Amino acid sequence: MTEELWLTSNGIEHMVRFLTSYMPREGEQYFELFRGIKVSFRKLRLYCKAIAKHHYDLGHVIHLDSMDQSEPQLLIRDVEFWNRACSSEKKRPIAANLLRHIVGSPYRPPGTTKCEHCKGEGQFWEFDKISSYKHYMIPPGHYEKCYKCDGKSWIGKDYPKEWPSKVLQLAETINNGEQCGFALRDELLDLGQPDLAEHFIIDEGQHPEGCWAVDFILGKE
Ligand SMILES: [Zn+2]
Ligand SMILES: [Zn+2]
Repeated sequence: MTEELWLTSNGIEHMVRFLTSYMPREGEQYFELFRGIKVSFRKLRLYCKAIAKHHYDLGHVIHLDSMDQSEPQLLIRDVEFWNRACSSEKKRPIAANLLRHIVGSPYRPPGTTKCEHCKGEGQFWEFDKISSYKHYMIPPGHYEKCYKCDGKSWIGKDYPKEWPSKVLQLAETINNGEQCGFALRDELLDLGQPDLAEHFIIDEGQHPEGCWAVDFILGKE
């Protein structure tokens, strides 16, 4: 899966497998499956909850707190259950958008931006260096880490170390399912954070619990 595909895909099964590196092999311990996980279990639980809530009005039957943290295989079964429930052409894009809304981009942490220097690839061919190093016999195809992002492929944006209490309060309110996205957007614009503010332009009340932008402000993973 590429980032472009992640942003446009409706293949929820594929997306979840990508997030969890879920490749069952016979006799394999479950914790082995989660070694390459790119998302917190909390986010996956909230994805199940969001689907149940939005499509079936069953949010109350998902007891997230009662799910045993040490049994990720049960969580994966739940996710697969809800994915199957959303397998129709109509529901699939809604589920994919919910997953994206909660997870954000698994390719870079929230609050960062794609490194423009290496186009978010982390490594790139440094033409200048290659030519000036010619005499040192750098082999063709030699790649170096992008010096701007140190090969991470993303760069941290400038955010306040601590958000004003008003912002935290509004984020908490959205997290509790109330509608104040526009108010939060205005606060973020006043703080000179247009990129993050942009997220709250979407319709009021459309932020599922675990929304990546709200979580980012509240410092939740
Ligand atoms: Zn870079
Ligand atoms: Zn949101």
